[in-house]
Amino acid sequence: MNILKSTVYLLVFFCISSCSQNDGNSDEPVISNEAKLTRLDIEYNGSTFKTKIIGNAISLARPFPFGTEKATVKTLLLSPDATSDKKVGDELRVIEDSIPIMVTAEDEITKETYTLTLDVSEYASPVEKHGHLQVKGNKIVNTKNESLSLAGNSFFWSNDNWGGNRFYNPSVVSWLKLDWETTIIRAAMGVEDNGGYLDNKTTNKNRIITLVDAAIAEGVYVIIDWHSHHAEDNTQEAVLFFAEMASLYGDYDNVIYEIYNEPLDISWTGAIKPYADSVIAAIREHDPDNLIVVGTPEWSQRVDLAAEFPITNDPNIAYGLHFYSINHQQWLRDRADAALESGIALFITEWGPIGYTQNDPETEKWMEWCLANKISHCAWAVNDKEEEWSIVIPGTNTSGGWADNVLTESGKLEKSIIREWPR
Ligand code: MG
Repeated sequence: MNILKSTVYLLVFFCISSCSQNDGNSDEPVISNEAKLTRLDIEYNGSTFKTKIIGNAISLARPFPFGTEKATVKTLLLSPDATSDKKVGDELRVIEDSIPIMVTAEDEITKETYTLTLDVSEYASPVEKHGHLQVKGNKIVNTKNESLSLAGNSFFWSNDNWGGNRFYNPSVVSWLKLDWETTIIRAAMGVEDNGGYLDNKTTNKNRIITLVDAAIAEGVYVIIDWHSHHAEDNTQEAVLFFAEMASLYGDYDNVIYEIYNEPLDISWTGAIKPYADSVIAAIREHDPDNLIVVGTPEWSQRVDLAAEFPITNDPNIAYGLHFYSINHQQWLRDRADAALESGIALFITEWGPIGYTQNDPETEKWMEWCLANKISHCAWAVNDKEEEWSIVIPGTNTSGGWADNVLTESGKLEKSIIREWPR
């Protein structure tokens, strides 16, 4: 025991004396020999591309868009007092397979060479990759007959002066494709309420045309949505509108027609199906084959009713399923599972998270379900209104280029879901 104590005292004494020796040399700077690169972010057209650093290999967390030739160093963090032959603002030529980055330690002797590999997307766009969409059984398949699930954004009601209308421009579409990696957008044309299509056909239709043209230019899918709760009251208006849209856009694989957003608690067989028959016939006169989505009773939740009496005279019909995670949970997924089992295809043209938080276990469950069943989904909504589902905070610019600090909690959650979605 005594011997052990003495040993400990001796060790402590030795430690204190060697520490004080070091203290005596404290005015001599210690030269670091660490040459580490700890973080590298790259910017392309305003969008940040983070990298993964494993050993000396650096790769992009997501590939650059097809055709990217140049990008810029946005953030470069090194070990203390190290230097690099690349600095923030430097241009990187993406067409080179790999780019060496040399880091030199403060001692100017120790050097590390990192290799940055810059992947570029193989396809110019989702539509170039997948092409025409076709219902096959309870799935939606691409031109290679592979089932697919698209993830993207619904715009807000298009109505004049409702606010969301300000976001109906091509630069928002470009930004969502580039920065969020959105593969589908939804143009939600308000119909009956103030400032909607029945009030002002020109402005509302032009907003839809603007988004559809932008989606075609970007190669993303686009839903032309008759954003109504009472469509059966104005069937002839819908017939004329969709006939015009089909004649303009029926040759574009980008376009999906959603002929009824959210019917209320009305009869599927007595009201919605007859309405759908008329509008589908009008579309098919001009466009024989693009996908059509039909909303279901009770705010597009009664997919069981559509499953019981599906539309059988057209081979390319899917049915609208909407959820908001605060209200719609396992019971609605169970209902949707039964509808899928009966053989109909579903399309979540609109969903909303709990809002004001990124911690949303129910949305996680829904997304796992969408992934497992290959269900496409569009998040509500591209807007800056003060409410839980807007993707940007009030007063945000309406032309994209949004840094994460102007995204709402819903916006951040949805961006992470959409970006991570298999494409
Ligand atoms: Mg067509």
